[in-house]
Amino acid sequence: MASGTRPGSALALVLLGLLPGCSSPSAQPAPPAHPQPAGSVTPITVDSTEEQIRQAVGTARVGRKLTPRTWPNGARVAVCLSFDVDNELLQRANPLPVPLSVGEYGATTSVPRILDLLDRHQVPATFFIPAMGVMLHPEMVPAIVARHRHEIGVHGWIHEFWPGIGDAAKEQRLLTQSIDYLTKASGKRPAGVRAPGSGFSPQTFDLIRKAGFLYDSSLLAADEPYEIVSNGQPSGVIELPISEVDNDYVYYGETANGSLPSPDAVFEIYKAEFDLAFQERTMFILTQHPHVGGRRSRIVQLDRLITYIKSKREVWFATMEQVAQYVKQAGS
Ligand SMILES: [Zn+2]
Repeated sequence: MASGTRPGSALALVLLGLLPGCSSPSAQPAPPAHPQPAGSVTPITVDSTEEQIRQAVGTARVGRKLTPRTWPNGARVAVCLSFDVDNELLQRANPLPVPLSVGEYGATTSVPRILDLLDRHQVPATFFIPAMGVMLHPEMVPAIVARHRHEIGVHGWIHEFWPGIGDAAKEQRLLTQSIDYLTKASGKRPAGVRAPGSGFSPQTFDLIRKAGFLYDSSLLAADEPYEIVSNGQPSGVIELPISEVDNDYVYYGETANGSLPSPDAVFEIYKAEFDLAFQERTMFILTQHPHVGGRRSRIVQLDRLITYIKSKREVWFATMEQVAQYVKQAGS
């Protein structure tokens, strides 16, 4: 949670979906880690029956693990660089010039800087972008698409917090609008989705499945790809799970106004995370927010991390869609 934010007001902001960094539950104050609007879900209590508890946790669970025997070209690990391009839309509660400028930096400076970095390393990435972020910065998507190696995924309409909507039909409309907007802007229907603020309402998974997404990347239940099981049934939707540890937001905060902890220390954490993924032959997904991680002292460390990962050689850099397609094919 950002310094200077009082816990009470922070909780109110979280309920509005305004405070959290994009996909990190840890950016939200704890407890509760995943606040839900009152009445939208039935709490688990000491009086709940076993069946009620099973039902309460059953919406999106870990099914078949999908790490293949081998990754393409004999690689030991798949590496996905993902960017949640939230920019100004994290400042919806306070759309004044100065807080907005913190997010605007992500579009004016960080995204071009990130694209240049990816060009230098010749590696792909996945960009999850709220539709109205595309509207505010129409130059971003063409710049990403022009590289011919990156992917664009759904990240809400205005980075709204889906559990806060409280209306399945409205949530569905927003998801459809978001898909349509990105499809039109990028020329390709998005294959993947990442819930803004890691917010899944009780209906969200069903909406994602019905929308035909190949994969979701919002959950945190494993370090490797898996098939989501919903209410006991394999869903066919692949989860590429994220980790709060591999997320810039939890280290640098929402206002991007400081570099402590040291970016050197953050690099060491990411490196250790990658090293074990390499050893375990699974997958490493890094989640960055351009307006946060694209700051100068921080992107230097991202450059260093990519250089380190490339030095290991038996690595497959891929978009998340490529990973999902590969594990789906290998697991079928
Ligand atoms: Zn986000």
